[in-house]
Amino acid sequence: MGVHRCRKCAAQSVIYMPQHRLALCAEHFLAWVEKSTLDFIAKHHMFEPLDRVLVAVSGGKDSLSLWRILLKSGFQADGLYIDLGIDAGGAYSKRSGEYVRKFWRTFAPESQLHVLDLASLYGKTVPEMAGRRAGGRKKLCSICGLVKRHEMNRVARELGYQVMVTGHNLDDEAAVLFGNTLRWDVEYLLRQAPVLPAEESGLAGKAKPLARFYERETAAYAIVSNIDYIEDECPFSKGATSLRHKEVLNSMENGSPGTKLQFYHSFLRARKKGIFPGYERPVLQACPKCAQATGIPGLCAFCRLTTDAEKSIGEEIL
Ligand code: AMP
Ligand code: ZN
Ligand code: ZN
Repeated sequence: MGVHRCRKCAAQSVIYMPQHRLALCAEHFLAWVEKSTLDFIAKHHMFEPLDRVLVAVSGGKDSLSLWRILLKSGFQADGLYIDLGIDAGGAYSKRSGEYVRKFWRTFAPESQLHVLDLASLYGKTVPEMAGRRAGGRKKLCSICGLVKRHEMNRVARELGYQVMVTGHNLDDEAAVLFGNTLRWDVEYLLRQAPVLPAEESGLAGKAKPLARFYERETAAYAIVSNIDYIEDECPFSKGATSLRHKEVLNSMENGSPGTKLQFYHSFLRARKKGIFPGYERPVLQACPKCAQATGIPGLCAFCRLTTDAEKSIGEEIL
């Protein structure tokens, strides 16, 4: 903002991206984000122009921007909003859903919006599934992640979408990568990719087309595009470990712009070359109830959670 002029047309810029030494005006910034997204989708073979794409939308800046970019680029992209029933005194899920619906009416009236209400489907909201036991918030976040993954996968498969996309940005990906690296969690490191192809075992294809953009860039894209989005973070995410990782990375980024991008890119390069050779993924099997792939014998973690939500939910199933 301010002193920089657009590199393409010399008009007043709306954003300066120090890691690329690039300032752009509103029009050229939108075009740059859209072109970079299409390049990233093509480079990683995320999906093809005629594929049906399901966008998981949370009401936040990333996923709504993603839906907008895909529609503007001519993809057949429908939305999926999962109402998790998070209230926490601020009607968080209800308000998030309103932003999603508003976006749909304004920018995507010809697409479908699938809304899935957990409480009416399974009788319990995410906080109710997590219960009030010790380890509360951490458990709630992992149950919430588990429920979202299971339901996104189920809907994508049942409705015949070729791929499901989420709005994860570079700040999200770098923070998760940082956490996985601190623990040297090989299984997670191998599964952390901008694209995961569909598997015969019942997992839908997944992709993260915005994984190369900083959070401030997706926010700027939403603002310049006049997309209204929920600004609050989930009330349960405050103080979560991933937020602490984000703080550490932000302070490194401030000292040396591009740190996060390089961290993530170098990881993708190493991953492609085959880091951790000889490592074998655990064999997956089908859950007898929902048929989704699971690494443990018997009911999958989601089915255990929803079949007997009253039963004590041990860490072992997460
Ligand atoms: P988060 O895990 O909240 O950082 O969100 C990561 C991505 O998951 C978002 O960009 C969305 O694509 C998707 N997502 C998060 N929450 C929901 C939701 N309630 N319904 C549908 N998709 C969601
Ligand atoms: Zn310009
Ligand atoms: Zn199951």
